[in-house]
Amino acid sequence: MEILFLDLDGTVRKPKSASKFITSFADQKPIPGALEAIADYASRGYFIVGITNQAGVEAKHKSQESCIAEQQHTLKLFPQIHSILFCPDFAGNECWRCYRDKAWDCSGKYPNLIGTYRKPGSGMVQHIIISNEVYPEDCFMVGDRPEDEGCANAAGVEFLWANQWLKAV
Ligand SMILES: [Mg+2]
Repeated sequence: MEILFLDLDGTVRKPKSASKFITSFADQKPIPGALEAIADYASRGYFIVGITNQAGVEAKHKSQESCIAEQQHTLKLFPQIHSILFCPDFAGNECWRCYRDKAWDCSGKYPNLIGTYRKPGSGMVQHIIISNEVYPEDCFMVGDRPEDEGCANAAGVEFLWANQWLKAV
């Protein structure tokens, strides 16, 4: 199995409103080209997982519930994204996994990853690599910020900048 890790904000989704950040769970739309790029990778058999820092939860810009609703809305917009991992805290101690109909705290599944979940830490990526028993060489990650590149490097996963990835399809 090959895995494509996707940063979300600024890589595949952006606010529908004029705001810099998503203001409510449904305030989001695909970045032009993202649906096509994802469909292309899905058609080539990639398992696709979203990886997003969401310390806005700890900062109280959004509630845990609305953060989960936001990820589930993204899963509706992008049918080929299998699931989304998010880290709601600045210390990188927590990791939540969202599916279309459920979400749960998976922070403690691999205790040695606690403290590394927030990007540029690689905990969220490692979590998926370990649980799917894949090699980092068979994965890559797309993102728009240095912390995404740092996360990919820390996990031993090849990194691609979002603007190049979107143009390549
Ligand atoms: Mg981003």
